[in-house]
Amino acid sequence: MAKTVGVVALQGDFEMHEAAFERCGAEVVLIKTPDQLAGVDRVVIPGGESTTVGKLMDRFGLGAALIEAASAGTPIWGTCMGMILMAKRVSDCDQYTLGVLDITVERNAFGSQIHSFEDEISIAGIDDPLTAVFIRSPIVTQFGEGVEVLAEYKGQVVAVRQGARIGTAFHPELTRDDRLHSWFLEV
Ligand code: GLN
Repeated sequence: MAKTVGVVALQGDFEMHEAAFERCGAEVVLIKTPDQLAGVDRVVIPGGESTTVGKLMDRFGLGAALIEAASAGTPIWGTCMGMILMAKRVSDCDQYTLGVLDITVERNAFGSQIHSFEDEISIAGIDDPLTAVFIRSPIVTQFGEGVEVLAEYKGQVVAVRQGARIGTAFHPELTRDDRLHSWFLEV
Protein backbone atom coordinates (compact mmCIF):
# COMPACT_ATOMS: atom_id res chain seq x y z
CA MET A 1 0.00 0.00 0.00
CA ALA A 2 1.26 3.50 -0.80
CA LYS A 3 2.61 5.49 2.12
CA THR A 4 0.75 8.70 2.95
CA VAL A 5 2.83 11.76 3.73
CA GLY A 6 1.33 14.85 5.28
CA VAL A 7 3.16 17.95 4.06
CA VAL A 8 2.52 21.01 6.21
CA ALA A 9 1.24 23.63 3.78
CA LEU A 10 0.73 26.84 5.76
CA GLN A 11 3.47 28.71 3.86
CA GLY A 12 6.75 27.90 2.14
CA ASP A 13 7.90 25.43 -0.50
CA PHE A 14 5.53 22.56 0.30
CA GLU A 15 4.67 21.95 -3.37
CA MET A 16 8.25 20.88 -4.10
CA HIS A 17 8.02 18.24 -1.36
CA GLU A 18 4.65 17.15 -2.71
CA ALA A 19 6.17 16.62 -6.16
CA ALA A 20 9.19 14.74 -4.78
CA PHE A 21 7.07 12.33 -2.72
CA GLU A 22 4.74 11.76 -5.66
CA ARG A 23 7.76 10.85 -7.81
CA CYS A 24 8.59 8.30 -5.06
CA GLY A 25 5.12 6.76 -5.35
CA ALA A 26 3.73 8.12 -2.06
CA GLU A 27 0.34 9.74 -1.53
CA VAL A 28 0.52 13.34 -0.30
CA VAL A 29 -1.95 15.22 1.87
CA LEU A 30 -1.38 18.96 2.24
CA ILE A 31 -1.86 19.82 5.90
CA LYS A 32 -3.31 23.11 7.04
CA THR A 33 -5.57 22.03 9.90
CA PRO A 34 -5.13 19.47 12.73
CA ASP A 35 -7.89 17.15 11.45
CA GLN A 36 -6.00 16.64 8.17
CA LEU A 37 -3.31 14.74 10.10
CA ALA A 38 -5.66 11.80 10.62
CA GLY A 39 -4.63 9.01 8.27
CA VAL A 40 -1.14 10.25 7.39
CA ASP A 41 1.68 7.97 8.44
CA ARG A 42 4.49 10.52 8.32
CA VAL A 43 4.85 14.30 8.19
CA VAL A 44 7.14 16.83 6.53
CA ILE A 45 7.52 20.44 7.58
CA PRO A 46 9.01 22.34 4.61
CA GLY A 47 11.19 25.41 4.22
CA GLY A 48 9.67 28.85 4.68
CA GLU A 49 9.60 31.50 7.37
CA SER A 50 9.66 29.94 10.83
CA THR A 51 8.31 32.90 12.80
CA THR A 52 5.23 33.18 10.55
CA VAL A 53 4.51 29.46 10.37
CA GLY A 54 5.15 29.01 14.10
CA LYS A 55 2.55 31.66 14.90
CA LEU A 56 0.00 30.00 12.61
CA MET A 57 0.72 26.55 14.05
CA ASP A 58 0.25 27.86 17.55
CA ARG A 59 -2.90 29.83 16.80
CA PHE A 60 -4.81 27.16 14.89
CA GLY A 61 -3.84 24.09 16.90
CA LEU A 62 -1.70 22.40 14.27
CA GLY A 63 1.33 22.72 16.54
CA ALA A 64 -0.36 20.82 19.38
CA ALA A 65 -1.53 18.14 16.94
CA LEU A 66 1.99 17.73 15.53
CA ILE A 67 3.45 17.41 19.03
CA GLU A 68 0.87 14.70 19.73
CA ALA A 69 1.70 12.91 16.47
CA ALA A 70 5.42 13.03 17.30
CA SER A 71 4.75 11.55 20.76
CA ALA A 72 2.71 8.79 19.14
CA GLY A 73 5.80 7.89 17.06
CA THR A 74 4.78 9.39 13.69
CA PRO A 75 7.99 10.13 11.75
CA ILE A 76 8.47 13.86 11.20
CA TRP A 77 11.07 15.46 8.94
CA GLY A 78 11.73 19.19 8.96
CA THR A 79 13.72 20.84 6.18
CA CYS A 80 15.31 24.23 6.92
CA MET A 81 12.39 26.16 8.48
CA GLY A 82 10.94 22.77 9.41
CA MET A 83 14.05 21.89 11.41
CA ILE A 84 13.85 25.25 13.22
CA LEU A 85 10.21 24.58 14.09
CA MET A 86 11.05 21.12 15.43
CA ALA A 87 13.91 22.40 17.63
CA LYS A 88 13.68 22.72 21.41
CA ARG A 89 15.76 25.90 21.37
CA VAL A 90 16.41 28.74 18.91
CA SER A 91 19.37 30.92 19.86
CA ASP A 92 18.74 34.65 20.29
CA CYS A 93 15.11 34.32 19.38
CA ASP A 94 11.96 33.81 21.38
CA GLN A 95 9.67 32.17 18.87
CA TYR A 96 7.16 29.33 18.84
CA THR A 97 8.59 25.88 18.14
CA LEU A 98 7.24 22.37 18.60
CA GLY A 99 10.23 21.39 20.74
CA VAL A 100 10.27 17.80 19.50
CA LEU A 101 13.97 17.65 18.53
CA ASP A 102 16.48 18.08 21.35
CA ILE A 103 18.64 20.57 19.49
CA THR A 104 19.55 24.25 19.57
CA VAL A 105 19.51 25.94 16.18
CA GLU A 106 21.01 29.19 15.02
CA ARG A 107 18.91 30.72 12.25
CA ASN A 108 20.36 32.15 9.03
CA ALA A 109 23.76 30.81 10.04
CA PHE A 110 25.20 30.94 6.51
CA GLY A 111 23.97 34.48 5.80
CA SER A 112 21.02 36.02 3.99
CA GLN A 113 19.14 35.07 0.82
CA ILE A 114 21.92 36.38 -1.46
CA HIS A 115 24.34 34.03 0.28
CA SER A 116 22.32 30.99 -0.80
CA PHE A 117 24.49 28.23 -2.24
CA GLU A 118 24.59 24.56 -3.05
CA ASP A 119 27.29 21.98 -2.49
CA GLU A 120 27.83 18.25 -2.27
CA ILE A 121 27.44 16.70 1.16
CA SER A 122 27.59 13.17 2.54
CA ILE A 123 24.72 11.96 4.66
CA ALA A 124 24.70 8.88 6.91
CA GLY A 125 22.45 6.25 5.36
CA ILE A 126 22.71 7.57 1.77
CA ASP A 127 25.33 5.87 -0.41
CA ASP A 128 26.82 8.72 -2.44
CA PRO A 129 27.00 12.46 -1.72
CA LEU A 130 24.03 14.57 -2.70
CA THR A 131 23.62 18.20 -3.69
CA ALA A 132 22.40 20.24 -0.74
CA VAL A 133 20.77 23.62 -1.36
CA PHE A 134 21.18 26.08 1.52
CA ILE A 135 18.82 29.09 1.57
CA ARG A 136 19.03 31.18 4.74
CA SER A 137 19.69 27.88 6.45
CA PRO A 138 20.11 27.23 10.14
CA ILE A 139 22.81 25.12 11.78
CA VAL A 140 22.57 22.89 14.82
CA THR A 141 24.79 24.35 17.53
CA GLN A 142 23.94 21.97 20.39
CA PHE A 143 22.20 18.64 20.68
CA GLY A 144 21.14 16.22 23.38
CA GLU A 145 22.27 12.66 23.99
CA GLY A 146 19.58 10.98 21.93
CA VAL A 147 20.45 12.96 18.81
CA GLU A 148 22.53 11.42 16.02
CA VAL A 149 24.40 13.66 13.58
CA LEU A 150 23.62 12.60 10.00
CA ALA A 151 25.64 15.27 8.19
CA GLU A 152 28.10 18.07 8.70
CA TYR A 153 29.10 20.79 6.28
CA LYS A 154 32.36 22.66 6.83
CA GLY A 155 32.38 21.59 10.47
CA GLN A 156 28.75 22.60 11.13
CA VAL A 157 26.00 20.11 11.94
CA VAL A 158 23.38 20.32 9.17
CA ALA A 159 21.36 17.09 9.52
CA VAL A 160 20.25 15.23 12.65
CA ARG A 161 18.02 12.42 13.74
CA GLN A 162 16.41 11.64 17.06
CA GLY A 163 14.51 8.40 16.60
CA ALA A 164 11.85 9.07 13.98
CA ARG A 165 12.39 12.85 14.13
CA ILE A 166 14.67 14.20 11.44
CA GLY A 167 15.98 17.67 10.71
CA THR A 168 17.95 18.86 7.69
CA ALA A 169 19.18 22.45 7.36
CA PHE A 170 19.10 22.31 3.56
CA HIS A 171 16.46 21.73 0.86
CA PRO A 172 16.55 18.25 -0.74
CA GLU A 173 13.19 18.98 -2.39
CA LEU A 174 14.79 21.60 -4.66
CA THR A 175 16.82 19.07 -6.64
CA ARG A 176 15.52 16.20 -8.75
CA ASP A 177 17.44 13.80 -6.52
CA ASP A 178 14.77 12.04 -4.46
CA ARG A 179 17.03 9.77 -2.41
CA LEU A 180 16.33 11.47 0.92
CA HIS A 181 12.60 11.46 0.22
CA SER A 182 12.68 7.71 -0.52
CA TRP A 183 14.80 7.17 2.57
CA PHE A 184 12.28 9.04 4.73
CA LEU A 185 9.48 6.80 3.43
CA GLU A 186 11.28 3.87 5.09
CA VAL A 187 11.92 5.57 8.48
N1 GLN B 1 15.67 31.53 7.63
C1 GLN B 1 14.34 30.96 7.66
C2 GLN B 1 13.79 30.98 9.08
O1 GLN B 1 14.52 31.24 9.97
C3 GLN B 1 14.38 29.53 7.11
C4 GLN B 1 14.75 29.57 5.66
C5 GLN B 1 14.28 28.41 4.86
O2 GLN B 1 13.44 27.61 5.28
N2 GLN B 1 14.82 28.32 3.67
O3 GLN B 1 12.64 30.75 9.26
